[in-house]
Amino acid sequence: MANKENGIVKEYKIYALTTDPVYIGTGGYTIGRVDNTIVRDPITKVPKIPGSSLAGVWRYYTVLEILSKIKDVKPKREDIKNQHNGTTINEKIKNWINKQNQSGQNNKWDTSKWYFFEGNTLIDLTCAGQDNVPQEELANITATTNEGKTGHCGHCLVCKGFGFSKKDISWQGMIFFSDLNILFFPVFTMYGTKWITTKRKLEELGLNGLTEPTDNKVLTKNGNEGHINLGWLYLEVDSTNKLDTKMESLKTQFKFDNFQLDDTNIIVVPEGLFSQIVNSNLEVRTSVSIDPITGAAKEGALFTSEAIPRGTILYGNVRIFDKSGFNGIDSKLDPLPEASKLECALKESKHFFETLGIGGMTTRGFGRLKVIFGKDLEEKSNPTVESNFQDTQQTTSQGGKQ
Ligand SMILES: [Zn+2]
Repeated sequence: MANKENGIVKEYKIYALTTDPVYIGTGGYTIGRVDNTIVRDPITKVPKIPGSSLAGVWRYYTVLEILSKIKDVKPKREDIKNQHNGTTINEKIKNWINKQNQSGQNNKWDTSKWYFFEGNTLIDLTCAGQDNVPQEELANITATTNEGKTGHCGHCLVCKGFGFSKKDISWQGMIFFSDLNILFFPVFTMYGTKWITTKRKLEELGLNGLTEPTDNKVLTKNGNEGHINLGWLYLEVDSTNKLDTKMESLKTQFKFDNFQLDDTNIIVVPEGLFSQIVNSNLEVRTSVSIDPITGAAKEGALFTSEAIPRGTILYGNVRIFDKSGFNGIDSKLDPLPEASKLECALKESKHFFETLGIGGMTTRGFGRLKVIFGKDLEEKSNPTVESNFQDTQQTTSQGGKQ
């Protein structure tokens, strides 16, 4: 297991607020109420966002962010290949960078900035997604498919950070993503929207000593609601055990721009009911297939899709391995990026989740998320690397819920 104290692996909590319904399909059909089902935990049956989806999308967004920052300086892959001084790719890259920085132009390759990691001289959009040329050797940096498509470069911060595989070397990467699991799930009730969670989930946030609800009762902050409906379930509110006052700390922890989770809106439900309540309150949309020839609705082509609803808060973690943990590994991988650079890469690219989203049907109003890092990361963030984080947790609570 990762240990965030040992200096080789840093583990960060991440939280995500869905600002659209999120659909990550299972890619198949199951028999039941819904045609297009979403990915679920195999044991609890609670929907989740798989770590592999998160990693794939974040990889793409990191490439976009780097390209946007270096576009005025970045050479073509051929420019590196054609450097005459230097036999290895690394020597050629260094040679190009030296020339660029001595040329008297304004566009310097400033390696003190994370996005000017030296291997990023080779980065391209095709460093994200599936590698088009996985059967080529790592040194063949200008390899293309018959159609002229390039592949993973194997040298940039993204390829080294997220992994790549070539004919002569496979690299698992330095950044690992857990699944994003549901932490607070919004349910419409007679008292407005409430967010359900469980004792175990709150304990994972570090809130210990909470009471487990019994007899299918639920816990609220005030405990005086009598009964409450969670979707179609009608449950008794425990009037003797109320939510702990420690819950107030959640107010500052879960602040996503103009959304703040208020402890008066949290309901702790019995562990065994959580999955049932979530699954009966998912967003279900009905669509119709359009015949591409006639442009009209196909007969009998009505289908339904389910999604994690807007306003859901998910949590997971990211582990970043420091390059010191790979000392003596294949010299083809030198140099590896520092963990602090990978950290900046994730933090500065995550804004794309807010506009481009994750999962399927993102062109139809699905998939947008707001991702924040837990306090650990914000405190440890490295200010020497040019950064501007808008979503750092507030330490003062002003104005309460918005
Ligand atoms: Zn690359």
